[in-house]
Amino acid sequence: MSFVFPPMPTVSVPVLGQPSQFPVHRIYCVGRNYEEHAKEMGFTGREPPFFFLKPADSLVVVETGQTGQMPYPSLTQNLHHEIELVVAIGKGGRNILAADAAQHIFGYAVGLDMTRRDLQNEMKKQGRPWCIGKAFDHSAPIGPITPIGQAGDVNNAEISLQVNGAKRQQSNVAKLIWNVAETIAHLSAAWELQPGDLIYTGTPEGVAAVVSGDLLEGEVAGLGSLKILIK
Ligand code: MN
Repeated sequence: MSFVFPPMPTVSVPVLGQPSQFPVHRIYCVGRNYEEHAKEMGFTGREPPFFFLKPADSLVVVETGQTGQMPYPSLTQNLHHEIELVVAIGKGGRNILAADAAQHIFGYAVGLDMTRRDLQNEMKKQGRPWCIGKAFDHSAPIGPITPIGQAGDVNNAEISLQVNGAKRQQSNVAKLIWNVAETIAHLSAAWELQPGDLIYTGTPEGVAAVVSGDLLEGEVAGLGSLKILIK
């Protein structure tokens, strides 16, 4: 087959302990999935999970042990960090039961759902799509994927983010409103999951702005960490 111009390369993420890369299909994100973060965004009570997407090529892939770089994006004065556990799907499916969800998981990574909060808030106010606030270029930094068998008890892992060495976000994955298995069940009822899908599972409280020159260090206990500098 020939193309009228060269196709974009497949976006992929390194896998800890393996020479092969994880090829990325789609990036799904869960909104307001920790109670304390929902509160800080002005919401209370359990609501059904809701989802948005980022393009696969919005990933900023950070190699094991490296510090990545994210350019400060255009059009915003309020770039927020959201530290998140990322689930990497290895086996697709639709209408996956929560009890079977683990069989579909290849591994986990630490990710940042970077958000142009001012633009997102403006879109919310107008009842318009969030794309410009959430799905911009370089909006999804991610560290290496830890295969599920080496990841420890991710569902009860501490999750945290430091900015310039100061703790900004700290919680535990156990505080997810919709846990990983329930999220996969809900998501796969709405879309057929495919191998290569990534799911950003939501952020705990403590979201705040970063500026050029800030160094972000995200951790989920048991996974490879994520370090990124805002350019
Ligand atoms: Mn988020």
